[in-house]
Amino acid sequence: MNASLNPFLEQAQVLDSTDPLNAFKAAFHFPAERLIYLDGNSLGPLPKKTRTCLRACMEEEWGTGLIRSWNAHWYGLPEKMGDLLAPLLGARDGEVIFADSVTVNLFKLLSAALPYQEGRSVVVSDELNFPSDEYVLEGLLEMTGRRHRVLRVPSADGITIDRGAYSAVLDGDTALVLVSHVTFKSGFLHDLKALTEAAHAVGALVLADLSHSVGAVPLKLEEWGVDLAVGCAYKYLNGGPGAPAFLYVRKDLQEALLPGLRGWFGSAEPFAFNLDYSPAAGMRRFLVGTPPVLSLRAVEPGIKLLQEAGMDAVREKSLRLSALLLDFHEAFLAPLGYRLGSPAKASERGSHLSLRHPEAYRINRALIAPLPGQPVVIPDFRAPDNLRLGLAPLFLSFTDVVEAGRCLAEIVASRDFERFANAPDPVT
Ligand SMILES: *Cc1c(COP(=O)(O)O)cnc(C)c1O
Repeated sequence: MNASLNPFLEQAQVLDSTDPLNAFKAAFHFPAERLIYLDGNSLGPLPKKTRTCLRACMEEEWGTGLIRSWNAHWYGLPEKMGDLLAPLLGARDGEVIFADSVTVNLFKLLSAALPYQEGRSVVVSDELNFPSDEYVLEGLLEMTGRRHRVLRVPSADGITIDRGAYSAVLDGDTALVLVSHVTFKSGFLHDLKALTEAAHAVGALVLADLSHSVGAVPLKLEEWGVDLAVGCAYKYLNGGPGAPAFLYVRKDLQEALLPGLRGWFGSAEPFAFNLDYSPAAGMRRFLVGTPPVLSLRAVEPGIKLLQEAGMDAVREKSLRLSALLLDFHEAFLAPLGYRLGSPAKASERGSHLSLRHPEAYRINRALIAPLPGQPVVIPDFRAPDNLRLGLAPLFLSFTDVVEAGRCLAEIVASRDFERFANAPDPVT
């Protein structure tokens, strides 16, 4: 195999030498071992600046400033970080705020949007949605006396959702469309602009989960007319494990929406301690309790790196990385039983590729714990047979992709995966 690998390696070296983003890898901390990290779509790596940022927050703001730091630094942090992120979403100042987790933010927005859409009884989602999004919706509908039902648009191939299939179910009874912009398993990229137009044509709102698209594809929420969105900061934004999530509400909807989950930090005057709630103006009403200050501090460096790189450059490199991996797949991996679990069309993909293989779980284990002399390769596994290969452009090189592809091939060709039992760990 080594001889025929050369054209791929040579091509990768040329692409690396002309890659405008190749300096960004140095902005991240990576362990000393030879490691190819293909899981930036699940937990982004640590930006070096985050260490200084957190140290300053701990030592100066918390350690020295004590509670004085609430006024000096912390109270406005959720919306300050929101405003910092807004350009990456194609949103304006005052339309984004950081709080809680994606799931909790979905509860807040769903519970605000459904009463706003009084008289409409259907929520439309699809079969490729993230399970937590469906669970939280289901729980809310149960709590509110089942006045709404969920209609899940089917996926014919388990990889894509046909836009026509969405349009076919939207009507005057649709309250809201709940959609994962990029689906977590196959990486299918919905046409959010077209979907929003179709939803608006029947008077429905769109709530987009951007967890797998923010920092991976250029977003234009304002231009596309998207009403509501949530997203995750620990994936392509590199905000750290369990980083607070964000929510977006279109400016002209903000005053009309009241979350069903309310708390003092979202009230008009938290320190007036009124027993009767009145909502804060703007996005602050979507806060609930005290924000996680240390974690909030950690989201800044990752966002700044993406802004410095520019999302158009990020997208361009992401498409080049995936094109190279797809060519490699066709030449070396498909003959070994791998199948593409992502859309074949670049315009329908986010920034990860899923490869399916009957031994995907054990291959994943063998990549992470290789034989001596081989690089560590870290993708992840999604049942039943998907190896997810995250192609985050800020720290991956084209050579990394070819090298990872070589490992994928060799582990199957040599049956090295047989070193492992078929017994999944709790986090795969
Ligand atoms: C990662 C991810 C989440 C994470 O939700 P949390 O509540 O923050 O754990 C939600 N939705 C999608 C689509 C995701 O990919």
